[in-house]
Amino acid sequence: VLEISNLHKAYGSLEVIKGVSITARKGDVVALIGSSGSGKSTVLRCANLLEDSQQGEILFKGEPVTWRGEGLGRHPADPAQVLRIRTNLSMVFQQFNLWAHMTILQNVMEAPVTVLGRNRAEVEPIARKYLDKVGIGDKCDVFPAQLSGGQQQRAAIARALCMEPEALLFDEPTSALDPELEQEVIRVIRDLANEGRTMMIVTHDMKMAADVSDHVVFLHQGLIEEQGPPETLFGAPKSERLQQFLSSTN
Ligand code: ATP
Ligand code: MG
Repeated sequence: VLEISNLHKAYGSLEVIKGVSITARKGDVVALIGSSGSGKSTVLRCANLLEDSQQGEILFKGEPVTWRGEGLGRHPADPAQVLRIRTNLSMVFQQFNLWAHMTILQNVMEAPVTVLGRNRAEVEPIARKYLDKVGIGDKCDVFPAQLSGGQQQRAAIARALCMEPEALLFDEPTSALDPELEQEVIRVIRDLANEGRTMMIVTHDMKMAADVSDHVVFLHQGLIEEQGPPETLFGAPKSERLQQFLSSTN
């Protein structure tokens, strides 16, 4: 579904991604781990075209995303493609970013209605279905401030699902939550993984990475230091940096 090859990204003169290649095939769950500042969020943001990149290629469903221009002026050649990619690669953020003035149901319906131009009557049952799925079907008519953090994050996941995306990107979906609330979000993510959804998950939670992913990528200073199946990465890490990282997170 998503193929990132040899991605390079700099902010001004600061090179933060130095040639990263990651492929997510249909049904793959890829976990991205690494210390703070290693470039995990940047990789997701580039995949979703929230950031441009200086070099490298992104293939989405086999379709190359081509860029035009040089340096900071570089932009995707086709705006329709940007919309297609953002729609099909829904992103869930650490801070749930729900709209405070809208009810939960309105939050979940907003993008399909305004971005995709679908009609409300058609979207509403879909939105309710996903809110049920994440276990907050009874919260449709309340505002985000009336929910716990875990419930807000589950609403944000329902909102991403309501776009019926090809794949989901998660950037530290549980790190703003207390441990008990974290578990309810992890349960939802695990269900999505079991359903065969394609996902790329940035997480600091090694247990979740081991539990839900098929493939783990360890980033260090903008490069992939080691990658492989979770059993190998967590059970028998080869790189000394990864060993250090893992012992520091436990
Ligand atoms: P964390 O675990 O703390 O979220 P991360 O692995 O997600 O870290 P990134 O957010 O991808 O790291 O950042 C990688 C590097 O890029 C960091 O050195 C960061 O300071 C830098 N960076 C990120 N965003 C910007 C920006 N908008 N402008 C300049 N530098 C940035
Ligand atoms: Mg980050």
